[in-house]
Amino acid sequence: MTALVVGGGPSGLMAAERLVAAGHRVTVIDQRRSFGRTLLLAGRSGLNLTHSERLDEFLDRYGPARSRLEPMLRAFDPESLRAWADHLGAETFVGSSGRVFPMVQKATPLLRAWLDRLTEAGVEFRTGLAWTGFVNGGVAVVAGDGSVLELRADRVVLALGGGSWPRVGGDGGWIEILRDAGVECVDLAAANAGVLVDWTPKHLVDFEGEPLKNVAVSIAGQTIRGEPVVTRGGLEGGPIYGLGPKIRAELNESGTAVVQIDLLPDISHNGLGIRLETKRPKDSVSTYLRRAGIKPVGISLMREATGNRLPDDRAGMALLAKAVPVAITAMAPIERAISTAGGVAWSAVDESLQLTARPGVYVAGEMLDWEAPTGGYLLQACFSTGAWAGRSNAGP
Ligand SMILES: Cc1cc2nc3c(=O)[nH]c(=O)nc-3n(C[C@H](O)[C@H](O)[C@H](O)COP(=O)(O)OP(=O)(O)OC[C@H]3O[C@@H](n4cnc5c(N)ncnc54)[C@H](O)[C@@H]3O)c2cc1C
Repeated sequence: MTALVVGGGPSGLMAAERLVAAGHRVTVIDQRRSFGRTLLLAGRSGLNLTHSERLDEFLDRYGPARSRLEPMLRAFDPESLRAWADHLGAETFVGSSGRVFPMVQKATPLLRAWLDRLTEAGVEFRTGLAWTGFVNGGVAVVAGDGSVLELRADRVVLALGGGSWPRVGGDGGWIEILRDAGVECVDLAAANAGVLVDWTPKHLVDFEGEPLKNVAVSIAGQTIRGEPVVTRGGLEGGPIYGLGPKIRAELNESGTAVVQIDLLPDISHNGLGIRLETKRPKDSVSTYLRRAGIKPVGISLMREATGNRLPDDRAGMALLAKAVPVAITAMAPIERAISTAGGVAWSAVDESLQLTARPGVYVAGEMLDWEAPTGGYLLQACFSTGAWAGRSNAGP
């Protein structure tokens, strides 16, 4: 049996590993000159491989896609991923947040050891070949010199990644090719991405790059605590990424979305009111607010939200500080997002991740329609779906 894996990221390489172990003659191709470039990029920020929380909580991070992903995430779960990494010499540790990283906190040694092991197992690697569509019994690819080749295999696994960071990974160009081939796909959208806010020049000059420490960000009934960062374009960071699906939904519905930022989530509204009781005669408004525990970046945020017309009463000031409205105009461009929502619809694949419109062709990784927050959930799902698409008992 022959197998062709298109896309040499974590999901494609994991599919190749399973297929070669099951006795397939496996070739992995990629449009780039090397493999695993998105993985290497993830390694620059520590390579958060997976998360150590209870599996049930872990599975909930995948939202509506949980039910489809669950068998795959259970079959190759976070413990299996850690054991697998250990085996490659990339021993892991659990950080204080429960996130799991390789000891060396980068991807290069793991990727190198993995590619060596796959090569030893007989996997053939070919670079500089871009998939452009299907032909009878295989796929069409374009080589660097423009020549078109047809590659045939008993099984094809597409693992082309999402649409973010097109310089290193996929560019999402596959979506139109698949739609033309009758495969239902959900439009790609930025996930784990920053949002755009129209800051005043003064706010940017004073606070670009500044974190809003220990705040709580809310939208549509969901609240996430953390440290969003003021960026030139708007806001970035954990709470913004985590609220991404809700922000996106509001933007899609009404063109804008407003998050509320509680600058002092550990103090009640009344408690803050008491703190704001005494304004010394010589205090400026900023000093008065700082004395109540609000940081300069938070005060500037309150000014941004009110057009620099802060409430002149204590109750109004407390209300504002507990829920500063920040109007978001759009998601940051997909090119800068950490991951992508949307992709091949679950209705287009069967239980084994085989395209119903293209028997013999399987899909894995970020090109499937799921999203999850940062925290190791992205790579875990890529490895797990890759392992699933490469299962020997799932077709030819
Ligand atoms: C900056 C950054 C940091 C990240 N950090 C983390 C982290 O710490 N933890 C975590 O869990 N996740 C992280 N992620 C996300 C994670 O890296 C991705 O979810 C994961 O790499 C996706 O794997 P994949 O195999 O689906 O796709 P990819 O890794 O993108 O691989 C897809 C491959 O397909 C190839 N390809 C695409 N189109 C074609 C074509 N037409 N023909 C041939 N080849 C093609 C690409 O060249 C690429 O090699 C991060 C992402 C980014 C951008």
